[in-house]
Amino acid sequence: MRLKHVKGAEEAIETSRFVIQEPETARGRWRDIFGNAQPIHIEIGMGKGQFLYTLAQENPDVNYIGIEKYSSVLIRGIQKQEQNELANLIFVRMDAEAIESVFAPGEVGRIYLNFSDPWPKDRHAKRRLTSRQFLARYDKILSEDGRLEFKTDNRMLFDFSLEEAREAGWRLTAWTYDLHKDKQLCEGNVMTEYEERFSAKGNPICKLIAVR
Ligand code: SAM
Repeated sequence: MRLKHVKGAEEAIETSRFVIQEPETARGRWRDIFGNAQPIHIEIGMGKGQFLYTLAQENPDVNYIGIEKYSSVLIRGIQKQEQNELANLIFVRMDAEAIESVFAPGEVGRIYLNFSDPWPKDRHAKRRLTSRQFLARYDKILSEDGRLEFKTDNRMLFDFSLEEAREAGWRLTAWTYDLHKDKQLCEGNVMTEYEERFSAKGNPICKLIAVR
C-alpha cells in the first residue's frame, strides 16, 4: 500500500488520549483501561478505521482496539473519534508482530483482519497477517472460544490463508469466495474502506471464520 505522508500525524498520535502510548503496560489489564469487563475485539491493520468505528457504534457492549502500523492512516481513525467519541474504542500504533507483548494469553475474544497486505513474494510469506507465524501469535492471545475473521478480495492471499489455517490446526467454521452473494455470511456485514472500493470495481470479496 502506498502511503501519503500526513503532516503532524506522529505528534497528534503521540498526544492523543484515544491512543494507548505504551501498550505493553496494558498487557493483562485491558479491562482496567476500558473500566469494565466487556469482551475485547481487535482489528489488526485497521487503516482509517471505518469498519471498527461502525462496529463500536453498533455494539456498545464490546470493547474494540484498532491496531495500525502507520500514523498517516491511524490519524484518520482518531479524527473520527474526536468528532464523535465512543467509549468502547481505542487505538494502538504498532507492528502486529509484537502482538503477544500487548495482550496476555486469552485476553482477546475476536481478531478481525480486513484486506491485509498480500506480500506477494514467496520469501515474504511470513509477513502475511494470516501466515502460520501470525496464527501462532493469535493462538496465544485469543480466548478459548475466540475466533478470527478475515476478508479480502485477493484470491491468492485467501487461498494461502485457508491453507495456513488448516495446516496450523485451526477449524474453518465458514468461508466463501463471494461474501456479498452469501446471504447467511453477509448478514450484518460491515464494509471496510477497501471492501467498498474493491466491490465497487466488481471484485468478489472472500471471507473466512476460523477457530481452534
Ligand atoms: N483494514 C482496512 C480496510 O479494509 O479498509 C485497511 C486495509 S490496508 C490494505 C492494510 C492496513 O494494514 C494498512 O493500513 C497497513 O498499514 C496495516 N498493516 C499492515 N501490516 C501491519 C502490521 N504488521 N501491523 C499493523 N498494521 C499493519
